[in-house]
Amino acid sequence: MSNVFPRDTRISPPVAVRGEGCYLIDSEGKRYFDGSGGAAVSCLGHGDAGVTAAIKDQLDRLAFAHTSFFTSEPAEALAELLIQHAPGDLSRVYFVSGGSEAVEAALKLARQYYVEIDQPERSRIIARRQSYHGNTLGALATGGNEWRRAQFGPLLLDVSHIAPCYEYRFKAEKETAHEYGQRAAQELEDEILRLGPDTVMAFVAEPVVGATLGAVPAVEGYFKRIREICDRYGVLLILDEVMCGMGRTGYLYACEADGVAPDILCIAKGLGAGYQPIGAMLCSGAIYDAIASGSGFFQHGHTYIGHPVATAAGLAVVRALLDRGLVAGVTSLGEKLDDALRSLLGQHPHVGDIRGRGLFRGIELVENRETKAPFDPSQKIAAKLKKAAMEAGLICYPMSGTIDGQKGDHILLAPPFIMTDDHIGELSEKVAISVTKVLG
Ligand code: PLP
Repeated sequence: MSNVFPRDTRISPPVAVRGEGCYLIDSEGKRYFDGSGGAAVSCLGHGDAGVTAAIKDQLDRLAFAHTSFFTSEPAEALAELLIQHAPGDLSRVYFVSGGSEAVEAALKLARQYYVEIDQPERSRIIARRQSYHGNTLGALATGGNEWRRAQFGPLLLDVSHIAPCYEYRFKAEKETAHEYGQRAAQELEDEILRLGPDTVMAFVAEPVVGATLGAVPAVEGYFKRIREICDRYGVLLILDEVMCGMGRTGYLYACEADGVAPDILCIAKGLGAGYQPIGAMLCSGAIYDAIASGSGFFQHGHTYIGHPVATAAGLAVVRALLDRGLVAGVTSLGEKLDDALRSLLGQHPHVGDIRGRGLFRGIELVENRETKAPFDPSQKIAAKLKKAAMEAGLICYPMSGTIDGQKGDHILLAPPFIMTDDHIGELSEKVAISVTKVLG
């Protein structure tokens, strides 16, 4: 088990000892280009002096004060900054330590909201197949990723799953992208009607699907239609931007590209950029007011919510993303990366699709480009790619997902926003070397 310590030397990965900009360095001195920011975490790269100084400064002043007794300056300032740029009516922030906790908090908040406004029969959740929303039991039940769920049933929550909006696989040839998006969104309305509108609490989705599909944005119009359906039936829209948020797609909040605002939004990963473990749930003023004027208290909490050092790190990260123009630069860097990947791999017989938004890019690998048939899972393509990439000095995120019951493979790229044109060349070449080594 490579995720248990102390390490098992028979299978353990290398020991990382230093981070410098876009690179990680192991105890043997080998350098790796961090092409996926771990798992879409390190948006600022490694060793950012400003964030490190902010953390040290906060530690010198105040490491911890429990939120039952105190608030803190960095938590207040970070909340203000997040809200200032947030879409719609998102106006309150609840800080947690990571993505799964943000999703758990969102689910509990949605449930408490409906209990407090006297609609306790609303408890059902709808999410999408091939999705991942975290590993704690509520988040795991919400996610529609079969292999992650398989061993843990029966799961705690009543969740049903509709199809993701996945143009490469599910758009019919005769449809336009827009028509496909409307058809995909219609599944939500059908499912709400099937379950009974008064029983449904929330719909949960990632604006750009990360780990499970490999950087798949919805087609134009899909989320607008989803928003309309949610509004029509009083279903809360919870968007999970744990991976795709914090500038990764070229917008501070990924849903801005889709022109929608959720009722509840989850962020993590890029918020702490790896400098501290932090996540957050943002909710609408309407939800906040209902609870504030009801019981007056969100019945939830963890010891480390709103941790001063974690929020100081988050504050320094978000300021850097905005003040240094890093989010503003993501779209053009993403286009250059897309061009570079297409020129090296666009004609490869096993590359089915290259897609994504901003610096969130996916490459889908297929056995047969014409039929889009995935590789047989026994070939363990994702595992082989990870090994080949690390040998080539590249950290990327190859994953096996499930497509219509069959396993499929993709590589997810989520490099730091500080990358230069030279870095784009290095990253795309190392990806191409790894793909060629495994697939010819
Ligand atoms: N939601 C999404 C979309 C994710 O990609 C992840 C992690 O990859 C999570 C939630 C869970 O976040 P964490 O691993 O920080 O608990």
